[in-house]
Amino acid sequence: MREDLLRHPVFKMAAEQFDRSADFLKLTEDVRERCKWPKRLITVTIPIKRDSGKTEVLFGYRVQHHLSRGPVKGGLRFHPNVDLGEVAALAMWMNWKCALMGLPFGGGKGGVACDPRTMSNHELENVTRRYTSEILPFIGPETDVMAPDMGTNEQTMAWITDVYATHAGHLVPSIVTGKPVILQGSEGRTEATGHGVAFLAARALKRLNSKVKEPTAIVQGFGNVGSHAARTLESYGIKVIAVSDVTGAIHAADGLSISDLMDHVAKTGSVKDFPGSEVVNPDAMLTMKCSILIPAALERVIDESNAADLQCVILAEGANGPTTTKADAIIEKRGDIFLIPDILCNAGGVTCSYFEWVQNLQRFQWSKQEVLSKLDTMMAQAFDRVVSFAERNEIPIRVAALSLGIKEVADVKSQRGLYP
Ligand code: NAD
Repeated sequence: MREDLLRHPVFKMAAEQFDRSADFLKLTEDVRERCKWPKRLITVTIPIKRDSGKTEVLFGYRVQHHLSRGPVKGGLRFHPNVDLGEVAALAMWMNWKCALMGLPFGGGKGGVACDPRTMSNHELENVTRRYTSEILPFIGPETDVMAPDMGTNEQTMAWITDVYATHAGHLVPSIVTGKPVILQGSEGRTEATGHGVAFLAARALKRLNSKVKEPTAIVQGFGNVGSHAARTLESYGIKVIAVSDVTGAIHAADGLSISDLMDHVAKTGSVKDFPGSEVVNPDAMLTMKCSILIPAALERVIDESNAADLQCVILAEGANGPTTTKADAIIEKRGDIFLIPDILCNAGGVTCSYFEWVQNLQRFQWSKQEVLSKLDTMMAQAFDRVVSFAERNEIPIRVAALSLGIKEVADVKSQRGLYP
């Protein structure tokens, strides 16, 4: 299994990042091994009847990296490329992210290999319910709490809540986060990840103030994270000049109206044909000149083929794992791009999920303003801590963020000792 995981390109990348930080921390071999490998790798099959009447068997996964600091927390992804290695890598990153943010969670991730864009609502509901039933023995508010990720949303979380409640015999809202507010979801959770990405990009911009006069932004991916990041940037007065989604990319030198674009996407399902915009090549879009580049879609989109050509001042990683190890080396050597690494940059989502879980346990509902102001405070503290740790130790900012998270987990493991 070790070798299988290490052969997977995304897991290999997460493992290389871990090794680099573990070297910096000088972790002993036994603690390093215990931190690196996931606690549970669960694979299930999900038979569903398609609307056509045909029966299809899908593969689903849930990986729980560690439970040492609390229940695992992490999204559920529906995407054709989902496999065990990708889910294991995402679970590992979640582990360091929760620890970095000081949240009482370990990292988890789940996914089903399917294409939600080709499935009806009824089929999606069936997949969600069957997936939940298959992993039911392994989840719970104190063991594993899911949330939305690519291809899933608050409706998916509502179905999971329903399956869990049906088996428990009563409503257990703390079983998932990112659920609808009517089901005791948290105000502010939907926009939390994108808002946090934009908040940190603006904070980084402030640090570089003298360098950037009229800030602009480019966003890859216009789903939950990308659209809300763009909307918050626009509210800060930062022009969003290009965005892309799976269907293509658009550009407007004077800036796109993000709320109009969100309406357009809600109506047409795509950013294409947005009035006042021109079509651009999605790959070329990544290397266009801008102040802030936000990859908010897939892994490994910044690689050795385009890292040297980037023309952004700040690279704010909304997606998980968007930059390969080779691209990291190129960016470090260039030294002219301020990187906000994924485990810090998109941590607004899990931080707000933590708020939702706390509200559910307390049977109490906070206002949106309360949620977003708490979120800004925690994001700002984490950002300042990571940046000063990187500066103090003269290490790249990704190594700093990972090291702070990994050290927290390593210390807990060492303190708890090894059973038996
Ligand atoms: P989503 O499904 O809501 O949106 C994904 C977007 O990416 C869509 O606009 C889709 O069209 C676009 N996309 C897909 N393939 C693309 C391609 N090849 N080129 C350009 N765009 C493409 O997903 P999301 O929840 O916004 O998640 C996006 C990323 O952010 C993922 O890496 C996810 O793990 C990460 N993330 C999400 C959250 C969250 O709270 N949702 C939290 C932390 C991290």
